[in-house]
Amino acid sequence: MTTTSTHDVKTLDARYVLQTYRRQPIVLERGSGMRLYDDAGREYLDFLSGIGVASLGHAHPGLAKAIAEQATTLLHTSNLYFHPLQGDLAARLSKLTGLDRVFFCNSGTEANEACLKFARRFWHTAGKTARTKFVAFTHSFHGRTMGALSVTWDEHYRGPFQPLVPGVSFADPGDPASLDALVDDTTAAIIVEPIQGEGGVRPITEAMADAIRKACERSGALLIADEVQSGSWRTGTFLYSEQLGLKPDLVALGKALGAGVPVGAAMISGRVAEAISFGDHGTTYGGNLLACRAATVFLDALDGGLSQSVARVGRYLQSALRTLAAKHPARVRDVRGAGVIAGLDLTADATPVVAAALERGLLINRTSTTVIRLLPPYIVSEQDIDAAMPILDAALAQ
Ligand code: PLP
Repeated sequence: MTTTSTHDVKTLDARYVLQTYRRQPIVLERGSGMRLYDDAGREYLDFLSGIGVASLGHAHPGLAKAIAEQATTLLHTSNLYFHPLQGDLAARLSKLTGLDRVFFCNSGTEANEACLKFARRFWHTAGKTARTKFVAFTHSFHGRTMGALSVTWDEHYRGPFQPLVPGVSFADPGDPASLDALVDDTTAAIIVEPIQGEGGVRPITEAMADAIRKACERSGALLIADEVQSGSWRTGTFLYSEQLGLKPDLVALGKALGAGVPVGAAMISGRVAEAISFGDHGTTYGGNLLACRAATVFLDALDGGLSQSVARVGRYLQSALRTLAAKHPARVRDVRGAGVIAGLDLTADATPVVAAALERGLLINRTSTTVIRLLPPYIVSEQDIDAAMPILDAALAQ
C-alpha cells in the first residue's frame, strides 16, 4: 500500500495529472464489499460503485482469486491468437442479449465507437454508401472520442472539439414526432440509451420506444442501444431494452460487465455481422484473458443468484427512494430509474446534497445539475439501503 500522505497525493495530482476531473476531497485506499476506506481510515458506504462499475462490490474474494490466478497463468496474447476464455464468454453474452456476435473492447466509449462503425459498414457493404447519418437524442451521453462524442448531446463536451462526425441530429426524448421527422433513408442508425444515465437517469418512455420501433421499421435504419450504464442486469433484466420491447441490431456494453476490470463489448446481430470483414475494426487489448476472466466471474455471480437478488433489492431501493422523496416534496421533484440505477431530481443544484452525504459517509454523485444519482454495487442489501436512506434524508434536510 502507498505511503504517500494525503497532502502529497493532492499536490502530485495538481502538479502532474492533467486537470480534467473535479475530484471529491478524499483519497480512497481500500474497499471491502459495499464499503470504501480513505487514507485516514474513514469508512464510506458506496452507492456509486465507481460510476456503475464495481458490480460485485470491492475486493470481491472470487474476483480477486480469479484475477490473481489469471495473472500467474496468462494475461494477454493480443487478438493474433486464440485463447481459451474469449469464445465461451462471447457465447454467454450472445445468449444473454439474443445477438449473434461480440466485438470485445476496453470501455463503453469503445463499444459505442464500434457500434457506430459497424452500422456504417453494414450500409457500405449493402452498396448504400450515402446512408451514413445517425439520429441520437438530446441529453444523450455515449463517450468522448470523436465518434462517440458526435452522438453525445451536451454542448459543453462538444463545442471545443468541432468539427465532429457530420450527419448527426438529435431528437427530443419527450417528443416521439421529433424522432419520426429526423429518420429517413439516409439514416444509418438510431442510437439510444434506454435509460439516459449522465442525462439525469431518464428512462425512455413507452411512447418513445414505440416511435423508435416504428421509425426503424419504416426506414430500415439500424438500432444501436447504448446499455453501457443500464445493461448487464442493472435493472433486473440483462438489457433494459427488453423491458421496453426494443430489439436492437447493436448493443454497447461496459461498466458493470468487468466488475472493475476494463471490459467493453459491442453485441452485433447476424445480418450486421455478415457485413463485417477481416481488418474492419480491431484493438490490441480487447477481449484479453484478464478482461474475459473478470467478465466470466461477473456472469458466474449472476448465474449463482445475484441476478435474482439484484432484481429484488432494486425494487426495495426504488420504493425506499419514493418514500424518502415523499418526505421532501419541496426538495425532490421526481424519482426515476429501475433496479439499482436511480435518480432523485431535485428542485435545485444537487452539489450541496452530494457534499453533505459525503461528510456523513455516503458516496453518491450529481448528474445533469439537479439529479442525485445512485448506482450501488449489485451486492447491495436491504440493510445497506436502510443505512443509506437516513443519511440521504439528513443531507436533503441540510
Ligand atoms: N455510454 C453510456 C450510457 C455511459 O454512461 C458511459 C459512461 O458514463 C459511456 C457510454 C462511456 O463509457 P466509458 O467511460 O467506459 O468509456
